[in-house]
Amino acid sequence: MDFSAFELDDELRNFWIEVNDFFDQHATDEVYEEEHRTGSGYNNDLHEAMGKRGWLTPAWSLDEGGAELDALRQRLLKLEMDRRDPPHVTLSTTSMTVAVVRANGSEKLKEKVLPGVASGQIRICLGYTEPDGGSDLAGVRTKATRVDGGWVINGAKMFTTGAHNCQYSMLVTRTNPDVPKHRGITIFLVPLDGPGVEIQPIATLGGERTNAVFYDNVFIDDDHRLGPVDQGWAVMSAPLDSEHGVKAADGLAEINGGAPYEAALRKLLFHAVRWAKTPDVEGIVHFDKPEVRVQLAEIALDVETIRNAPGPMGRVISSEKLIERSADILDLVGPDALLPRGAQGAVEDGILEWGNRFAQGTAIYGGTTDVARNIVAQHMLKLPRPPKIG
Ligand SMILES: Cc1cc2nc3c(=O)[nH]c(=O)nc-3n(C[C@H](O)[C@H](O)[C@H](O)COP(=O)(O)OP(=O)(O)OC[C@H]3O[C@@H](n4cnc5c(N)ncnc54)[C@H](O)[C@@H]3O)c2cc1C
Repeated sequence: MDFSAFELDDELRNFWIEVNDFFDQHATDEVYEEEHRTGSGYNNDLHEAMGKRGWLTPAWSLDEGGAELDALRQRLLKLEMDRRDPPHVTLSTTSMTVAVVRANGSEKLKEKVLPGVASGQIRICLGYTEPDGGSDLAGVRTKATRVDGGWVINGAKMFTTGAHNCQYSMLVTRTNPDVPKHRGITIFLVPLDGPGVEIQPIATLGGERTNAVFYDNVFIDDDHRLGPVDQGWAVMSAPLDSEHGVKAADGLAEINGGAPYEAALRKLLFHAVRWAKTPDVEGIVHFDKPEVRVQLAEIALDVETIRNAPGPMGRVISSEKLIERSADILDLVGPDALLPRGAQGAVEDGILEWGNRFAQGTAIYGGTTDVARNIVAQHMLKLPRPPKIG
């Protein structure tokens, strides 16, 4: 691994300045305020402004609505996004799924969807998890039945984050119940505005909004199918690998410049340091105490460790450290840290209280940390699969 310092040349430096200017202008306090209120992981103005620059699909050609950014510029853009952490969940789900549309969609579907994804008008959510479970994706029960001219879908999906701001869900369905469960799965890009689709909000402990989505006799034509019938497991593995960090997109992505929850821990550290440096009501500056500085320094080291943990290891450690350290910060600051935003006397306007709530869910979504450990064991360490129980 090469840890040597990297110098930006003038052109790259100018690009970085352009990226910073963009986020100064578009990732405003109002954007973060709206995100705090809605927990939607999406801001329309910011998303469309990125689309105008081609930065939603930065590697795509200019003709396709992208920005033709080379790997280094894509990296700078991503690092700046990670650093500022504007609402971006819907951008992430769209980026993951649009790759599947490009690789497996019919020409008609691609013509309809790809330009809109690049401009920001079309967004896609992930319809994987069902009420009966998310870890065992192959156990999917939502049924797609072939009918004249297309398919009819019946079933329910849980935790379809961003559905209320998306035009399509990438839906995992059961098309053949009579074969081993990893076969008999087919993927569709299902429009969310058609008859029979109902989206119900779910509020979470961490303040994020997600959704239950019900599909009741929803008809779609065959052009919405992604990949071959009954072979959805293979079709789905690309976005799953990307979500789990199994496969790096290129050499630059191998060092995880933003394991998913690094930004959240960095934000909590920033506020804990600011709290420590601000005299309290008795005039005590906690930062002057060596034991406080040691604790904060340990958290800063964790942030660095997370930043350099690749793939699924980054997924596990970023979540587990966030859970552990967000609790340590509450202990360090004391009971006032538990006051929520807006309450009288809330420390750092309730960010520390929010951080500990938010941390808990990070062990679950995108596949739980338990499942990520299995991936590390099987894909990285080449250990055998755990034996089946029962
Ligand atoms: C805020 C939020 C947003 C989400 N967004 C989305 C989304 O956009 N789209 C989507 O499809 N899903 C989404 N999810 C769902 C998420 O991916 C699932 O919750 C997750 O995969 C776990 O599934 P489950 O909750 O059904 O738990 P289960 O699969 O029922 O697991 C229960 C417990 O068993 C453990 N477990 C299960 N299998 C194994 C195993 N093989 N080895 C070891 N331990 C195991 C799990 O770690 C967990 O602790 C979201 C969830 C949350 C909380």
